[in-house]
Amino acid sequence: MKQTYFTPGPAELYPTFYQHLQTALDEQIGSISHRSQRFRDIYRFTDEQLRAMLNIPASHAILFTGSASEVWERLLLNCVEHESFHLVNGSFSRKFYDYAKALHKYAHIAEKPFGEGFDYADAEVPEYAELVCVTHNETSSGVQMRTPEIHKLKRKYSKKLFAVDMVSSAPYPDLDFSVIDSAFFSVQKAFGMPAGLGVWIVNDKCLEKAERLQRYEGSVIGAHHTLPALWKNYQTFETPATPNVLGICLLGKIAEDMNTIGIDTLRRQTEEKARMLYKFLESSDLYEPFVKEERHRSQTVIVAKTNKPSAEVISAVKQAGMVVGSGYGKFKESQIRIANFPATSAGQIGVLIDELKKIG
Ligand SMILES: *Cc1c(COP(=O)(O)O)cnc(C)c1O
Repeated sequence: MKQTYFTPGPAELYPTFYQHLQTALDEQIGSISHRSQRFRDIYRFTDEQLRAMLNIPASHAILFTGSASEVWERLLLNCVEHESFHLVNGSFSRKFYDYAKALHKYAHIAEKPFGEGFDYADAEVPEYAELVCVTHNETSSGVQMRTPEIHKLKRKYSKKLFAVDMVSSAPYPDLDFSVIDSAFFSVQKAFGMPAGLGVWIVNDKCLEKAERLQRYEGSVIGAHHTLPALWKNYQTFETPATPNVLGICLLGKIAEDMNTIGIDTLRRQTEEKARMLYKFLESSDLYEPFVKEERHRSQTVIVAKTNKPSAEVISAVKQAGMVVGSGYGKFKESQIRIANFPATSAGQIGVLIDELKKIG
């Protein structure tokens, strides 16, 4: 049976994906050179669509990597000489921190228990931290940090570089790129595409830092996909290595479709669908929202406690043609995670809720 995927990545494919893939194959996109004008036009188009959607100013480049977790490493290598600072409240924010330690950075950490979120006032950024690493949407626990809080934190520490992991929420967060230096995502979450492409939005201040580090004797910013190399190639809409041309092409098409709907509408729809889900969870005896604080509840990955083993819920929903995610790590048995991405409509969320209701 064909399933609807409410899993938090990989997730349901965007409804127009199939058609765009077909067209791209018909146009032999998989065989074109990444040094051709055709590729440069594709890169430029995707850049324009994302720039318009997320309101990205000219100070920021849009670069392509293999995945979002690759961007963790790129940021740490290119923008941190000694010290980074991490807001950690779940598995993904922790991995960003773990990467910093693995790269022998002096990584500072501010931590919250699983299921709790950060506000502006919770974070004291250490004096010598060069890069502040914030996770907008912690996919493992279903916790968000609201964008006004992120912006306030950056304004308080305006000299420091700020990087925002928006992997499982973009394009939902309305980040203000006149203050945020860098943000990044993968396409297999809310953009509704197969995995294999990371998108790195990054400004000239990060580039300056990387160029400075590159000049220091003994400092290493990496060999693969250094920021100066990505940036230089970006000037002509090219990439240092052979990129995921098909993915870049399809991302541009899906971003164009999303822009036709309009980002404000898309964000409103996301909030409306999240409201449906949370309202249901709160009114049900079978489930409850895992995240207590309403302001910290993710709009794109909804985590519910289940009062029976989550495997039973997952399997019952599957019978009805829908796939929801299990809890993360040690919460695997007691929670479910429901992705609320643009690929699924309010109608489909309604069908899911009806099915969840039936499990008594
Ligand atoms: C999925 C995810 C990542 C990692 O993305 P990959 O594409 O697997 O590299 C990073 N951060 C968050 C918050 C995620 O949800």
